[in-house]
Amino acid sequence: MTATRTPGLPVVEDGFLISTSPATGVEAGRVPVSDDKAVDAAVERARVAAAWWAGLGFDGRKTRLLRWRALLVQRIEELGELTHAETGKPATDAIIEAIAAIEHVDWAARNAKRVLGPRRVKTRLLVAEHAGHLEYQPYGVIGVIGPWNYPILTPLGPISGALAAGNAVVLKPSEYTPAVGQWLVDTFAEVVPEQPVLQAVHGLGDVGAALCRSGVGKIAFTGSTATAKRVMATCAETLTPVILEAGGKDALIVDADADVAAAAEAAVWGAMTNAGQTCIGIERAYAVTQVYDAFVAAVVEKAGRLRLGEEIGPITMPGQVDIIRRHIDDALAAGATAVLGGADAVQPPNVAPTVLVDVPDDSAAIREETFGPTLTITRVADADEAIAKANSLPYGLGGAVFGKANGVRIARRMRAGMVAVNSTLSFVGNANLPFGGMGDSGFGRIHGDDGLREFGRAKSISVRRAPSLLPSMTFERTPAQVQRIVKAVKLLYGRRP
Ligand code: NDP
Repeated sequence: MTATRTPGLPVVEDGFLISTSPATGVEAGRVPVSDDKAVDAAVERARVAAAWWAGLGFDGRKTRLLRWRALLVQRIEELGELTHAETGKPATDAIIEAIAAIEHVDWAARNAKRVLGPRRVKTRLLVAEHAGHLEYQPYGVIGVIGPWNYPILTPLGPISGALAAGNAVVLKPSEYTPAVGQWLVDTFAEVVPEQPVLQAVHGLGDVGAALCRSGVGKIAFTGSTATAKRVMATCAETLTPVILEAGGKDALIVDADADVAAAAEAAVWGAMTNAGQTCIGIERAYAVTQVYDAFVAAVVEKAGRLRLGEEIGPITMPGQVDIIRRHIDDALAAGATAVLGGADAVQPPNVAPTVLVDVPDDSAAIREETFGPTLTITRVADADEAIAKANSLPYGLGGAVFGKANGVRIARRMRAGMVAVNSTLSFVGNANLPFGGMGDSGFGRIHGDDGLREFGRAKSISVRRAPSLLPSMTFERTPAQVQRIVKAVKLLYGRRP
């Protein structure tokens, strides 16, 4: 574990995938690479495990998931260190990430029965003598494909929902963070040793593609928009359903009555945490003219205090540095001003906090996902202009608003799956709230009731309990009976409200 390699670049050697620290190049993790046959074999094993796991019922699974939750909590520092080693993010940030993930494990375990369990539903006129039964049955095996930026939280959202719903899971972690993925699988096996209910397969993108083709019941993908399209195309070959959690370019709107200091503090956190490598990171701010100057000054002051190597780690994926540099350089060439950082901020593998103003609306820094500790701030006349600009991109993941009188009204009008009011990113911490986007940010939901329902197929059962009073669905109905049905419908539905 001492060899020094190109910082951050994973390598495949002798059948092993080796991840490296983006800060030092020291080996961080080593896992066996899975070929297509190994992926198929894992899915086959998972099918058997899924039948056993589903047979435990909601209560049996809840007990085991809560035992896993306890183990994750007991070993949280170890998980924080491993995540630090593979991603470069501060270990304390990794621990907060783990806590958010553990919330979802706990919530899914406790709520699966309520959301997915069998229940009676009311019947309707044409089948008045039938009882309606609804339940959500597991798909069998769910394939989870995860990114590197939040290697604990992003896979554990779909994994906890899928497991609580009664599925087995095969996880393909990012090639940058395989050891974190394997660690999650190994700890689960400690509390559920009987069957391989949660497994990992490792390698590069082709392993993810093999998982898409393996006949799993559903794929829950988190990653970039470009890869999401490839995943959907591959899954289309077998009509395998998908959840796609893709990229974003989230906006923060600062309204005239906002608490400017609080808005600046949250903007800096939302934009710079995890060195800006956050799908729901704030990348654009729109401040109305009354508060614009004060907001820019407060953001610059707060972001300027962040220390590289302390609050902000290196850029995890070496290639991302070029994208961040291009966005900054293009914006400056197009007339933007760096009020903090700028071209010199990019010193691989680090990027210092950068705040850009007067950035043209058609710049890459406004339109494309930057994934670095950068923020553009744009002056707008009012909240309407801010909303129009915020909503002008194909992405629609998250967003934020600071304002007193109209915060929630503005949030409703933002083209985004999730919006935080008077904070940034907070929706991810509430396990009751579904998480997901629209447009180029993908579709489907994880977390919350909607997230759980993604991992069960609705199963409808209609049970006849008595002879039909108004037989409609039979060749044996008589004209008089049809007349009675029509009369009943006229009585019930014929009057205009
Ligand atoms: P990528 O899209 O590059 O990769 C995501 C995962 O897909 C990785 O495990 C990757 O494997 C795998 N993969 C690559 N090619 C294929 C393929 N053809 N078929 C199946 N799987 C494949 O994303 P990143 O890992 O770079 O993550 C960053 C992106 O994720 C950002 O755009 C970010 O916004 C987004 N994201 C979205 C979130 C959300 O909830 N909406 C949350 C977090 C991140 P490998 O690593 O081996 O290439």
